[in-house]
Amino acid sequence: MMKQTGDLSLVKKMNTAIVLDAVLRHAPLSRAQISERTGLNKATVSSLVQDLIDSHLVLDLGPGESSGGRKPNLLQFRSRSGHAVGIDLGVNYIRGILTDLEGCVVAERRIALKAHDAKSVIPQLLACIEALRGEIPPCPYGMVGIGIGVPGLVNEDGTILFAPNLSWTEVPLRAIAEERFGVPVTIDNEANAGAQGEQRYGAGRGIANQIYVSAGIGIGTGMILNKELYKGSGGFSGELGHLSIHADGKPCRCGNRGCWELYASENALLEQAEPLGFHDLDGLLEAAGQGREDVVALFERIGEALGVGIANIVNVFNPDVVIIGNEMRRAEAWIGGAVQRTVAARALAHHQRKLKVLFAEQGEKSAVRGAAYYAISSFLAKMKGSGA
Ligand SMILES: [Zn+2]
Repeated sequence: MMKQTGDLSLVKKMNTAIVLDAVLRHAPLSRAQISERTGLNKATVSSLVQDLIDSHLVLDLGPGESSGGRKPNLLQFRSRSGHAVGIDLGVNYIRGILTDLEGCVVAERRIALKAHDAKSVIPQLLACIEALRGEIPPCPYGMVGIGIGVPGLVNEDGTILFAPNLSWTEVPLRAIAEERFGVPVTIDNEANAGAQGEQRYGAGRGIANQIYVSAGIGIGTGMILNKELYKGSGGFSGELGHLSIHADGKPCRCGNRGCWELYASENALLEQAEPLGFHDLDGLLEAAGQGREDVVALFERIGEALGVGIANIVNVFNPDVVIIGNEMRRAEAWIGGAVQRTVAARALAHHQRKLKVLFAEQGEKSAVRGAAYYAISSFLAKMKGSGA
């Protein structure tokens, strides 16, 4: 409970945040239940709830069930009072979703990219956001924000410093999108966005320590430690794709040698599939399904290489769960066994006691849902801080 001292408007803001949080976590619930849960007195709760009703964030549902006596009115969060846009900018696609304030997907778009350069991609990205905004049903807050996951390093100003697979350097994407749409924009690495997507809506729900391995063309990781995304001092954490697993291995574009992603990514898979006559993951999955032994063996090798890196991650972070996402998650049936066996054989025994190695539940939508979550959470943080 907040002590009634100091700046009154600050106290009100903090109490508003507490009340809105109670509704977000426990609705439907009554004013009396909020008072019990938060320790705030009933008059304060009633007044703050009225403010939240006036600002369209809370709905009074009327009387609920009661075991006797007067039935209390139940309150609900108005998840459709505003909408968020989430974008997953891939190397050869843009995926966009429109969600309500609980993250439920209301509309979707997918655009195939033919060229990578910022000059041709950015107008398509802005058009995708524009189209999703056009699908927002009438609601008090309209589009509350935009979250974008990108395959590269992003600084605190939302500038993409370096996206090797797109060949972008120094693209001020947040500034460009905020200027165009006039709402807050969050830009983050796609592995961080994927980690958030799985933590909020997928295999990581309710789990405190989660490492998300985005295994696509390269490998990136997003680390949720104690339920918070760990970003490091400059926001650049999670480049575990460049963990060296062979000291004298192949040279990597990063300057190091023997990096994990050279052996365990979709690129590594396709490189080794070339001599077998395959050029994409779809073809390989089909061949494995038809029992091609050389393809099955290739998936096993890639699975082992994924497991080697994951064993290192497990020893460092002692996570509750490691979640494999992005394109390679589609090969779960062919790499899953090898991953599990390799982790079991290589990670320290005590670190494995509570460990689960899972595949992304949100599938291709981990990153885009995480991106939308950024927009939702910054909007709700602003509303909590406004005293509603
Ligand atoms: Zn490297």
